Amino acid sequence: MVRSRDSKEYRITLQIGILVLHYCKGFEMLIHFGRKETELVNEQLFGVNCPECGNSGRLSITIVARYVHMFWIPLFSIGRTGFSYCGSCRQELNKRNMPGGLQHAYQDVLRSTSIPWWHFSGLILVGVLFLIGLITTYIPK
Ligand SMILES: [Zn+2]
Repeated sequence: MVRSRDSKEYRITLQIGILVLHYCKGFEMLIHFGRKETELVNEQLFGVNCPECGNSGRLSITIVARYVHMFWIPLFSIGRTGFSYCGSCRQELNKRNMPGGLQHAYQDVLRSTSIPWWHFSGLILVGVLFLIGLITTYIPK
């Protein structure tokens, strides 16, 4: 942990998964954050041969959605990605290393998925709190 010595200085220290905000002398706030992912789909491919072992019907495409979380609450999405996996030779390929035919199948599976709304639940929560703050400020008493 990094301690702030200068009370006038406002510093932010980035450590592994923990954001430390130094407000003033002796006071700091720890914010736990990081990146997580959830599996959206795992689809078996038929009619596509494995580029490594040549077996057919043993390839699958997995698509995952990644998000940034704060205190394990999803804040916002940072997109989808995926990989292919062969059940015979256990080779895993990411999009960049897939040959043409496999990449087309990957794009088809990717298009059939969408990012879940709850990956933005932190932003939604902030928006709702902002609206409540706005309404309570401008309601005549
Ligand atoms: Zn294979």
